[in-house]
Amino acid sequence: MKKNIIVAGQLSEAQRQELEPHAHLIDLGKPLNADDAEVKAALADAHGIIGSGFTIDDAFLDAAPKLKAVTLFSVGYDTMDVDALSKRGVLLCNAPDVLTETTADLAFTLIMSSARRVVELAEWVKAGKWQKSPGPELYGSDIHGKTLGMVGLGRIGAAVARRGALGFGMKVRYALSSPKPDLERELGATRCELDELLAESDFVCLTVPLTRKTEKLIGAEQLAQMKDSALLVNISRGKVVDEAALIEALKAGTIRGAGLDVFEQEPLPADSPLLALPNVVALPHIGSATSETRLAMAQRAVDNLTRFLQGQPPISPVNAEALNQQ
Ligand code: NAP
Repeated sequence: MKKNIIVAGQLSEAQRQELEPHAHLIDLGKPLNADDAEVKAALADAHGIIGSGFTIDDAFLDAAPKLKAVTLFSVGYDTMDVDALSKRGVLLCNAPDVLTETTADLAFTLIMSSARRVVELAEWVKAGKWQKSPGPELYGSDIHGKTLGMVGLGRIGAAVARRGALGFGMKVRYALSSPKPDLERELGATRCELDELLAESDFVCLTVPLTRKTEKLIGAEQLAQMKDSALLVNISRGKVVDEAALIEALKAGTIRGAGLDVFEQEPLPADSPLLALPNVVALPHIGSATSETRLAMAQRAVDNLTRFLQGQPPISPVNAEALNQQ
């Protein structure tokens, strides 16, 4: 019998056709909020959920007693209570690898646009201010040859570091990661403590997942350790940074600027002080947002789900142990 699967995201027609022999797809077309009556009714009978952009906690799971699998489009699963899912024998799968290079491209876009003041100067041109060549007050800073501090050196971190070292001749330092001897050999990267990385880097790039340990990892104390010429780039999750402290540092000029794809609250409120700062490049969480990669992320979630529904091991389980309880 076909299982009820809630679709919370964009699937292509081909992907829907792949799932349809095994699943009765339910598109609610609204956020998966368990307080909503229609969502609640769908959850009561749901065997699986595929998609992204929702939060699962104990209360959500109370509303979904038949749930057996959640396959995410994203690699990050900080909005999922993994312990609660595991306790109830609900399999969780994420989508690593397929978005690594695209997200690294975006991290580098932020490095480059912050350093060379691309957004600020493009707006300056559009505002008709280009009456003569920009003077020193509008100069950017070099990227090549500078020190790139990678906070986290996992899949995406390594791809960013590779761009920096091999493409721009940057010196790579890394912290908050297990030793990566292969990358040290390939890129000349050196591992250090976070304090040392913050003090030495011209670019500090955050690529750690959001966990209890990394929440507000970069606060006032850490920002104060950075050079006043340094730029902070965050493509991980907004809550890894204490945003109020970052705003203070940017206003006071104790760091030079920030390139941010992620924020404490998303969508970023229109009255956020970050938006009034010329030394901030703010993007709407688009690390993986290319047509090719979003399709590949959805495909990973489809592959995980079809394998699960056919009794085969999923490709990228987060809590494979949950399968033992089903
Ligand atoms: P990954 O391969 O797991 O890399 C994570 C890195 O962080 C590893 O080096 C890991 O150390 C390190 N780390 C430090 N503290 C950690 C902790 N408490 N728990 C787990 N790891 C810790 O992940 P990834 O694929 O590179 O993705 C990283 C994050 O990027 C995702 O979790 C997501 O939040 C974010 N992301 C954002 C976007 C976007 O659109 N902006 C897109 C994709 C991903 P070890 O090397 O020792 O494991």
